[in-house]
Amino acid sequence: MTRRIVFASRNRQKFEEMRFLFQDFPVELLFGGDFSALAVEETGDSYSANALLKARAWAEELCLPALGDDSGLEVEALAWEPGLLSARIAPSDEERIAWLLRRLDGQEVRRARFVAALTCYFPKEGRFFLSRGVCTGHIAHAPEGKDGFGYDPVFIPDGYEKSFGILGDDVKARISHRARAVFRMKDMLFTRTVLE
Ligand code: IMP
Repeated sequence: MTRRIVFASRNRQKFEEMRFLFQDFPVELLFGGDFSALAVEETGDSYSANALLKARAWAEELCLPALGDDSGLEVEALAWEPGLLSARIAPSDEERIAWLLRRLDGQEVRRARFVAALTCYFPKEGRFFLSRGVCTGHIAHAPEGKDGFGYDPVFIPDGYEKSFGILGDDVKARISHRARAVFRMKDMLFTRTVLE
């Protein structure tokens, strides 16, 4: 069994969320930022391609299996934008939310989804596992709550009436796009341990 996997990011907030999702699984998830200042440009044309770019770069840099992720918000009324550009449309979370609410002003159709891709890359074999997760919902008319990060205060997941900014980490850990991608990744990593 691969016991140590490095998280391919220097974002500690994301790492803590990932460590929480892996807490019931027998791997030690290491924080990439503790070992390297590697910065990987997200030049891929899909979430999966970006997750793979990050996982491979960190795995080869540290000679350890590495877990890379990429994610974004897709909004139906905006032709599924901002998507891959979710982090780049404005400099801060507040400005990104303001951009989104402006674009949806007067818009009744507010369907949206978060998408996440995860890649676990094994440098010795040059092979990888890939998983994806989607969380559907809609965009609120104004931000609600302070939990989470990014677009959480304006994203209301299906089956709930409040935003992730109010619902908080426990709900996110069950139904978020990242949580769903992690469930699938854990299954694949588990299968690998059986085959080894
Ligand atoms: P990246 O995966 O770090 O490239 O993030 C992509 C963008 O999507 C960032 O602007 C995040 O704020 C946003 N995003 C990704 N996942 C979430 C989430 O779970 N909640 C809120 N925003 C998210």
